[in-house]
Amino acid sequence: MALADLLYRCPRCGFDPMDGEGDDASCPACSTRYSRGRGDRLLVERRPDGVTAEIPVSTLVALIEGSGGPLSRAERPDGSIDYSADVLASWRVGEEPVHHKGVLRGFSESMGEPVPGVLKVDRDGVTLRAQGQAEARMAFLEIRALQTSSSSLQLSLPGDRLVQFRFLADSPRRWEDLLRHLLRAAYRRAGKGNVVEFQPRIVAE
Ligand SMILES: [Zn+2]
Repeated sequence: MALADLLYRCPRCGFDPMDGEGDDASCPACSTRYSRGRGDRLLVERRPDGVTAEIPVSTLVALIEGSGGPLSRAERPDGSIDYSADVLASWRVGEEPVHHKGVLRGFSESMGEPVPGVLKVDRDGVTLRAQGQAEARMAFLEIRALQTSSSSLQLSLPGDRLVQFRFLADSPRRWEDLLRHLLRAAYRRAGKGNVVEFQPRIVAE
């Protein structure tokens, strides 16, 4: 994952989105810069006044969450949620058996051709408008699982359907944070308890 995908919002001033490619991220507003430090868990922070420090990733992620995470950019002044991103969407078309030394070891998902589209989120779910396909609505209360990798996000849906999104110019981490937050809120509003797991399936208690 690109560093600006992980730090999609400035940990210091809250500006959203951050700039950057690969292992560098910088804030267009306050000019704080980040790069990879020693090991996976440390990032080097260079402040505009020249102060440099190594800071744990978890500290920076907590600062982003503490300042509202993905919500301030997604929330409109009237309180509604309206955010969208260009994606490549692919639907599962089947499962292929995987054999090793003649023994069935499991199944691997076989995904259909990726189709360009726009993924839009509101308070109750997400809507996909993909080229040449009917609009697909996925309400938060129907989603069975939300799984993420460094580059994509997958939703499991009723009827054994599965759809995968790759974000063309947005952070998969932002979308994971945003959908988890809104899904939890939708469960609470519906009196379905607190969501405690998102994968391999959504569990509320
Ligand atoms: Zn900043």
